[in-house]
Amino acid sequence: MQQPEAIIVRLGEMTLKGRNRGRFEKRMREQIANLMKAHPQATVHEEYGRVYLVLNGEPYGPVAAGLNRIFGLYSYSPALMVTPELEEIRRRALEWMQAQEPAPRTFKVTANRANKAFPHTSQELGHLVGGYILRHADGKLKVDVHQPELELRVDIRQSEAFIFSESIPGTGGYPVGSNGRAMLMISGGIDSPVAGWLSMRRGLEIEGVHFHSYPYTSERAKQKVVDLTRKLAGYTPDRIVLHMVPFTEIQTRLNQSRTDSLLITLMRRSMFRITEKLAADRRAGAIVTGESLGQVASQTLPSMQVIQDGIRLPILRPLVMTDKTEIIKLSEAIETYDISILPYEDCCTLFVPKSPATSPSLKAVERLERSLDFLPELEREAVERTERLYIREREEDKFDEYF
Ligand code: ATP
Ligand code: MG
Repeated sequence: MQQPEAIIVRLGEMTLKGRNRGRFEKRMREQIANLMKAHPQATVHEEYGRVYLVLNGEPYGPVAAGLNRIFGLYSYSPALMVTPELEEIRRRALEWMQAQEPAPRTFKVTANRANKAFPHTSQELGHLVGGYILRHADGKLKVDVHQPELELRVDIRQSEAFIFSESIPGTGGYPVGSNGRAMLMISGGIDSPVAGWLSMRRGLEIEGVHFHSYPYTSERAKQKVVDLTRKLAGYTPDRIVLHMVPFTEIQTRLNQSRTDSLLITLMRRSMFRITEKLAADRRAGAIVTGESLGQVASQTLPSMQVIQDGIRLPILRPLVMTDKTEIIKLSEAIETYDISILPYEDCCTLFVPKSPATSPSLKAVERLERSLDFLPELEREAVERTERLYIREREEDKFDEYF
């Protein structure tokens, strides 16, 4: 492919209708501005609802990869940027055609003239450019106005013209933050970062909640969660707040109590209660987990029911119906997989009972919890001692925001 000189970005168009459109587009503009900070030679301007990125020598690939991380973005087109003058347009349009691989057998030219001072109408321009290409191409190229293999588009703007041929669809979803905020229970595993990514794609702003049992779990296990969160931060212009909850005391005390096969159930109920408290502090409207139906003992229907009992916020489980192989594919695509498979121990794998209950009884669990009178106080303390980290995509961008 010929090195594009500009990228035409379409923000909302059909997907974002109604009164939220302005707000959604503002979020996407912020993300574009944030992306372009890493490409200082490039310029950004907007005309008639489209954003034009003029690369000025900045490489196309990384900018396109960045655009793929902006949820809700409608589409973008790599383009050549030329002076709005007929001979120049013809010459560069031919160059663009000849650089196409594989070479198209049929084409048509569609022109669009925002600058009415340009001396040819859109239709004339289509003929003038199309005819020129036909005369200079090898004899096999034909015009097909109905189903061309390549549609060459010429867009005449105020002070420049753009030549392009493809519209690459965005990654879909809604701009981050446009659907509210949720707490993501994030472990160091494969699933929860993917669940986080899917939530962000739906427009949720997420805050991470991680339970660690330091010193039973290592500093490196914590770092792994920070690194996973940093990957997710690549999809938002903001930082991600990561709540590090000290869980050692609760876990140890539960483990010393006679909880038998209900240990995991109790631990997970405690995690949800703590997460719900943090959610209230942070005004989050939901809890997201990486649970997938049937994956482990705590993810059977009866287990999930007992574990979530008493929690009032909606619990969103984006992966509940997803196979592990599909989850792995997604985690590879968002580049969290290699971090997730690092072998540092998670707090949940510490004191696993020999046969965790797959069908715990709510009555038995509640009775047991009533006897563990230290639990409410320890949970309150865990919330109080929770450490907050602010994670950005690039470490050097970590300027200090405190609430
Ligand atoms: P994952 O790959 O996300 O670790 P998993 O298959 O290991 O998932 P579990 O360990 O049963 O599943 O955990 C289920 C969900 O509970 C996780 O996806 C995550 O949302 C949450 N969770 C588990 N451990 C922790 C933790 N230490 N801190 C925060 N959330 C956790
Ligand atoms: Mg896990």
